[in-house]
Amino acid sequence: MANPIYSALPTTIFTVMSGLAAEHGAINLGQGFPDAPGPRRILDAAAHALTEKSNQYPPMPGLLELRAAVARHYATTQSLELDPTREITVTSGATEALACAFLSLIAPGDEVVLFQPLYDAYLPMVRRAGGVPRLARLEPPNWRWDRAMLETLFTPRTRMVVVNTPLNPTASLFDAADLALLAEFCVRHAAVAVCDEVWEQVVFDGRAHRTLIGVPGMRERTVKIGSAGKMFGLTGWKVGWLVAAPELTRVLSKAHQFLTFTTPPNLQWAVAEGLEDPGDWFEVMPRDLQASRDRLSAALRAEGFSVLPGSGTYFLNVDLAASGVHEGDAAFALRAVKEAGVAGIPVSAFYESDPVAHVLRLCFAKADATLDEGARRLARARDLSRAAVR
Ligand code: PMP
Ligand code: GLN
Repeated sequence: MANPIYSALPTTIFTVMSGLAAEHGAINLGQGFPDAPGPRRILDAAAHALTEKSNQYPPMPGLLELRAAVARHYATTQSLELDPTREITVTSGATEALACAFLSLIAPGDEVVLFQPLYDAYLPMVRRAGGVPRLARLEPPNWRWDRAMLETLFTPRTRMVVVNTPLNPTASLFDAADLALLAEFCVRHAAVAVCDEVWEQVVFDGRAHRTLIGVPGMRERTVKIGSAGKMFGLTGWKVGWLVAAPELTRVLSKAHQFLTFTTPPNLQWAVAEGLEDPGDWFEVMPRDLQASRDRLSAALRAEGFSVLPGSGTYFLNVDLAASGVHEGDAAFALRAVKEAGVAGIPVSAFYESDPVAHVLRLCFAKADATLDEGARRLARARDLSRAAVR
C-alpha cells in the first residue's frame, strides 16, 4: 500500500522538536527560523504584487525578472556569469530544487556520495530516485573531508556528489582547498555535484562563501541551489532556484515541470525586487546574526558550556560531552524541551549511521532576551541531566 522508503521514515526532527516546544511552552531554538518579521520592503512588494499583478501561472522556469535578478546577484556576489534564460530555474524552495536534481539526474543504481551530518531531506529523496548512497562521516571540530576519505567514497559507479556549504547543522564552511580537492574527484569520475548553498548569504567573521560551480572543471557539472527564504529570513516563502549549465538545466526542468510547474508569482516578484535592490540588507543581516551568535555563545560559555566554532547559518553547536552532560544528544534534547523549557536539535539526527551524538544545535536568530533565557534554561537542563545520569 505504501512505498517502503516513506512508510519507514520517522517524522522530521524539525517538526518533532517544534511540536514539543509548543506542547511544553518552551523557547524554540530548534527548527531554524528567525523571530524577526523580515525586510519590510520585500513584504510590501509581495503584498503589492498580490493585488496589482497577475496571479495566473507564471512561466514554468520562473518569472524572467526573477531569473535575471538571480543572475545579476550571483554576478555581483560570486563572480558567476549566468544566462537567465538557459541556466536558471525557479523552484518552490530549495527542497523542490533538491528533488528536481535527484529525480532527474540519478538513474537507478547510480552511486551518490554524501557527507554526514546531512540535511534530513537528502537521503530519502536520493533513495526514492534509485540512487545508492555512499555515506561519509565528518567530525567536529573541523567537519571536513580529506583525500583519503574521498578515495574510499568514489568508485566507477559514482555519478553524483551532494555538498552543503555553509553546512547545516555544523555552521562550518568548506574553503577553496576543500572544493578544489572535491572537484578533482568529480572531474576524474565524471560525477555531477549538487550544491546546496541555501546559507550562502549567512556568513560571518569576514569569511567568504565559496561555490563549487566557480571551480575550474565544475561549471558544466554542477547544480547550484539557492533559497530566498534563507537570503531574506522568510523561511516560509519557499522560493528557491536551480543554477546549472544549459544541458543540465534542460533535464532539471523536466522534473520541475511535473513536481510543481511553478511558484506563486507575487513571491517571485518580491524576491526579484529584493535581489535587484537589496539596499544594505546583505551587510546588515549577517552582521546582526553574527551579534546574536556571539551573544548566545557568550551566555552559554558563562554557564560553563563548551561551544563549537561556527561561521555561518543560524546555528551554533554545543559540545555536550565537553560541557559536563553525560547523556546522548537525543535524550538530552528531549529532557531540555520537556523539563527545562528549551528546544534544540540533536546533531545525531543528521546521521544515518555511526552518529556524532554529543552535540546540540541551537538557533540564534532570535531576540537577545530569548537567547539569554535559552542559555539559562539549557544550564538548568544540564543540572537536571547530571542529577539523573551519573
Ligand atoms: N537545505 C538546507 C541545508 C536547509 O537548511 C534548508 C532549510 N533550512 C533547505 C535545504 C530547504 O530550503 P527551502 O526552505 O528553501 O526549501
Ligand atoms: N532547515 C531548517 C533547519 O535546519 C528546518 C527546515 C524544516 O523545518 N524542514 O532548522
